[in-house]
Amino acid sequence: MRYQFKFRPYQRRFVRSLTTNHGNWDIREGIILRLTDETLRVGWGEIAPISWFGSETLEQALDFCRQLPEEITDEIIFSIPDELPACQFGFESACEWGSGKWGVGSKGDEENNFITPNSSLLPYSGLLPAGEAALNQWETVWQQGYRTFKWKIGVDAIAHELEIFESLIHTLPASTKLRLDANGGLTYEEANLWLWTCDNLKANGELPLEIEFIEQPLPVEQFQEMLELSMSYKTAIALDESVATLGQLAACYQQGWRGIFVIKPGIVGSPSRLRKFCHQHQIDTVFSSVFETAIARLASLQLAAELSRNNRAIGFGIDHFFEQEETWLQSLCKDL
Ligand code: MG
Repeated sequence: MRYQFKFRPYQRRFVRSLTTNHGNWDIREGIILRLTDETLRVGWGEIAPISWFGSETLEQALDFCRQLPEEITDEIIFSIPDELPACQFGFESACEWGSGKWGVGSKGDEENNFITPNSSLLPYSGLLPAGEAALNQWETVWQQGYRTFKWKIGVDAIAHELEIFESLIHTLPASTKLRLDANGGLTYEEANLWLWTCDNLKANGELPLEIEFIEQPLPVEQFQEMLELSMSYKTAIALDESVATLGQLAACYQQGWRGIFVIKPGIVGSPSRLRKFCHQHQIDTVFSSVFETAIARLASLQLAAELSRNNRAIGFGIDHFFEQEETWLQSLCKDL
């Protein structure tokens, strides 16, 4: 198949600056691309890199787009190098979009309709505010419909966090699931203490709700330690930063990881190869956003719907990170 290729970079400001362990994030930058096939079917794609999480930089993605001819082929798309995982995702998902198999409009006046598919079958996870604020703000998140919560740990002194944790598990309704995300910020001793605490509370019947998992307790370099921890405790561990790309994901699996894998489709790489890997190895996955627009979200939710197992909530919150998504995106795509 041959496609007419057009692209356009975008910038959008977060409603509130996003604090990560790599500093403050104010502006999300990415690229919207449009592929029109020989039958004039249109497919939209999005490249939304997060270089500090392991993808290419925006500049590398732009360079790649700029050197492409105006007409491209499937051969070009399916041979995008692994060093450009967000590009692999953007181009392949634009092909899938255009193929019409997702049931979204790809012709005529429908082409600018970015409807988020009905993924009500998959529960969503909502982010609690960090620290003590979680104790009196969880109800807002609950009222938005979330029943799986994520709470960041490894931010404050561990003794203080464990105290808040004790209050939190007795404050949240028993039907909720709680995920603890350390973003690689714990020491080996602290990770042991968190896992021991969760195991111990459960063994003593003192855990009123379910601790679904502890996410990325240690830095990426300490894979062997996380592997050992995952075998020493009953509380599950999910890898996130360690498995940013398909290559890393496969390497962790090959080295024996049988815990949970957090997959961010927007930066993980080729959707077709991701599908193949998940089907072949039946891995336990959690799907999560990269603060993309509705275009990459649609493609990501398709993958999540296909590949999620164990009914795990997905991290594509309906939290409002950006303003006026619909109109902004439609006017951006209009001239493309
Ligand atoms: Mg995480």
